[in-house]
Amino acid sequence: MADKAYTHSLREFVEQRVMPQGDDIDARDVYPVELARELAVQGFSSITLPTEYGGGGHEFSYAVALFEEVSVGSAALGVSLLTIFQAQTIIRLFGSESLQQRYLPRFAQGMLSSYALTESAHGSDIRSLDTKATRDGDEWVLRGEKHFITSSSAAEFFVILAETPVGVSAFAVPRDVPHLTVYEGRNSATFGLRNGPHMNLRLEDVRVPLDHLIGTEGKGVRQAVTTLDYSRTLAAAISIGIARAAFDAAYAHVARRVAFDQTVLGFQGIQWYFAEALADIDASRLQVFHAARALDTHDDIDRYGSEAKLRAAQVATRTASMAVQVCGAHGTMVNSPFGRYLRDAKTYEIAGGSTEILKNTIGKYLMRGAKAAATP
Ligand SMILES: Cc1cc2nc3c(=O)[nH]c(=O)nc-3n(C[C@H](O)[C@H](O)[C@H](O)COP(=O)(O)OP(=O)(O)OC[C@H]3O[C@@H](n4cnc5c(N)ncnc54)[C@H](O)[C@@H]3O)c2cc1C
Repeated sequence: MADKAYTHSLREFVEQRVMPQGDDIDARDVYPVELARELAVQGFSSITLPTEYGGGGHEFSYAVALFEEVSVGSAALGVSLLTIFQAQTIIRLFGSESLQQRYLPRFAQGMLSSYALTESAHGSDIRSLDTKATRDGDEWVLRGEKHFITSSSAAEFFVILAETPVGVSAFAVPRDVPHLTVYEGRNSATFGLRNGPHMNLRLEDVRVPLDHLIGTEGKGVRQAVTTLDYSRTLAAAISIGIARAAFDAAYAHVARRVAFDQTVLGFQGIQWYFAEALADIDASRLQVFHAARALDTHDDIDRYGSEAKLRAAQVATRTASMAVQVCGAHGTMVNSPFGRYLRDAKTYEIAGGSTEILKNTIGKYLMRGAKAAATP
């Protein structure tokens, strides 16, 4: 478990620095560069990275606490950190020694990054891609387009999935390589998780050194999915943060608001909404911490990460919807944060592993013959 001093310092940072900016980041749809760098300087964005690379070397309970706390203030900041985490994870798990030495310390210094799998014709299914990579002497040459890439408006580094003659493979691509264009597409803006437009990348014979192939050629799908198994647990923590923010803001409102000569919270019917939501949030958080422990012990991470994200995303949407309901007209106002919570929560039922894909992953786990899966 993350220690109390750690959670306390995070809460202080979120209250002072993030909460005042949450609505503004969402309204302007901008990547919160300054906040992301501040968190990096304090060691938060590399909290689980081994100390030899300048990271905190902490267990994953510290990471889920980070993602929940930050996302109480701004889920957009949460996803900004998540894409940093995805890029560092795939390199940490699969990258060559030279790639790790070159890039992992830079994450600890605040490098911003994106994780680019999706193409216009390939969303959930990344087993075959239109982006191609071919070997030319001592370089890889990449050509194609990636769409809908979170954090790409600010990213300084990309992990890009491309198909080589032996199959889908993962590549490390710095933003400043020649012939890489990042541009805003027609569909880059979303109504939720607005940390800047989810831009498109155009690669026109982008050249990177041979060691920028991450892991094994042709094993990119497995590596990318394993990385998603890690990040899904953190995405679940972001959803808990959204649920908590919606709960707290609604609770504060109904505790003050008077109707029929008593506070709105005084009505038993309203208390029941909160009782359900609290039970949901507490149960879901336990599930997230369980999934975090599974990451530390490498124990069925596909199952536990998917279960955690599946449930937490639904809990966040339910809680955000409840928050609007109990706040009445106030809940629907543009200058209240409830619309943001609802939009962020719903968007996370799709991004980073949709509800259906998560159920498929759990289904595959069951098909592996996990007969006693429900036995603790
Ligand atoms: C806010 C946001 C941020 C994103 N950020 C990134 C990013 O940083 N990097 C990146 O690479 N991509 C990113 N994406 C893209 C995201 O990964 C895809 O949107 C997602 O994979 C779904 O693909 P799709 O939208 O093409 O839906 P489709 O694949 O067209 O699916 C449509 C619907 O069918 C369901 N479906 C698809 N396949 C199956 C199946 N086998 N069984 C049952 N149901 C199925 C889906 O769950 C969905 O409900 C982001 C998306 C969003 C919304």
